[in-house]
Amino acid sequence: MDNLIQFAYVVSGALFILGLKQLGSPATARRGNFISATGMLVAVVAALLDQGIVEYQWILGGFVVGGLIGATAARLVAMTSMPEMVALFNGFGGMASLLVGAAALSTATGTFTLVTIVLSILIGGLTFTGSLIAYGKLSEKLSSAPVMFRGQQIVNSLLVLGIVASGVMFCLEPANPQWLYLVIGLSLLFGIMAVIPIGGADMPVVISLLNSYSGLAACAAGFAVNNNILIVAGSLVGASGIILTQIMCKAMNRSLSNVLFSGFGSGVTETTEIEGEIKPISVEDAYYVLEAATNVAIIPGYGMAVAQAQHVVKELTEILEKNGAEVNFGIHPVAGRMPGHMNVLLAEADVPYDQLLEMDDINPRMENVDVAIVIGANDVVNPAAREVESSPIYGMPVINVDSARTVFVLKRSMASGFAGIENPLFYKDNTRMLFGDAKESIGGLIREFG
Ligand code: NDP
Repeated sequence: MDNLIQFAYVVSGALFILGLKQLGSPATARRGNFISATGMLVAVVAALLDQGIVEYQWILGGFVVGGLIGATAARLVAMTSMPEMVALFNGFGGMASLLVGAAALSTATGTFTLVTIVLSILIGGLTFTGSLIAYGKLSEKLSSAPVMFRGQQIVNSLLVLGIVASGVMFCLEPANPQWLYLVIGLSLLFGIMAVIPIGGADMPVVISLLNSYSGLAACAAGFAVNNNILIVAGSLVGASGIILTQIMCKAMNRSLSNVLFSGFGSGVTETTEIEGEIKPISVEDAYYVLEAATNVAIIPGYGMAVAQAQHVVKELTEILEKNGAEVNFGIHPVAGRMPGHMNVLLAEADVPYDQLLEMDDINPRMENVDVAIVIGANDVVNPAAREVESSPIYGMPVINVDSARTVFVLKRSMASGFAGIENPLFYKDNTRMLFGDAKESIGGLIREFG
């Protein structure tokens, strides 16, 4: 039986790795998700047989209640609120590791197990409260402004010292549970303190990092309860989370320490005067320009998600193609509010994957583009990132839509994007602003073609 269980763990570990690999491309992502979920089912069944469970009714109860909550939340949540749901669920993952670590205490023997218990509680605890703060900031239940005060670094350093000291004391005196309670309390507090100085705009990066931490917590819990598949799954989550965090930081041209400690968005205001004037365009006039275009690039952003415009965008794409134009999409790695946000929306609308070009692929082609249609994107097409040295986003790679012959920007007002900064693109000679909800504006264009 034991061999069979270990074999099942190897199979589920292999399925996780295969699933992760397939998640790397939109074409195989759905299958990847299914394969990973199957791996998890195998792992859960094997773990239930492995650990000599005496009572199944609680497990069954948890399975039904948790499953119902998960399925309902996944169905009800709006696509634009997905990042905050991920934050919340991630926090629960941290809490689960904390509880597993604490429960392992009843059977703990040896210093190594005690250390892994402390680690699963520490990382699980800070992941839990840190994720709750991230959830609060993203859902705007808490102010998204960075909370900074004098001596913050010192307070945080003292907290870390306190956690380490009480962790060491617990390992030396495991019979004395106060030390463990102290580790739990300080870790929960540290999660809050670590995330409050980070602005709402950086929350997706923080969530990705906390996701990586939740993996490490699960890995430590795996050592604490001596379960191989928990160690493997935790390591995979830990490693992939940190890779994603790096990718996001790189796409914003910022270091992880800048994201975590700089208080980005705490009232940085630009003073540069922007030259040029705003030139609005009507749907009819935009139609005449588009009708004559042979090369069109569509650059979607967060506003496309808000407007739920992906289906009409796909419709417009087909009309333009029938009209003889080549149409490509330019996808910025941090467009929207979570990694892959645009890919998910466009896949939902059945836009072929080979039409989605990454930033580095679309930028060299931009000079040959007749019309670049920016749909609810702002920061990811902001030329200030190249041109204005004093800009907070200076150095961030952006999609160079301003190199196209004509740029249409579809948005409702002159409001700024997530970074809260002005966009000189709107004032350029070749830019025309098509004001209004993106779905309605595109619907209008489709009617003109009709
Ligand atoms: P932005 O937030 O810069 O801009 C979105 C624009 O959409 C707004 O200016 C808004 O203008 C417009 N908009 C909103 N609703 C509608 C609507 N119904 N119809 C038309 N337009 C609408 O989005 P981007 O995608 O360009 O940039 C993403 C930002 O998020 C970047 O700053 C990025 O760094 C940040 N970020 C993203 C992460 C990710 O993983 N994707 C992670 C971390 C940060 P108006 O109100 O005038 O309509």
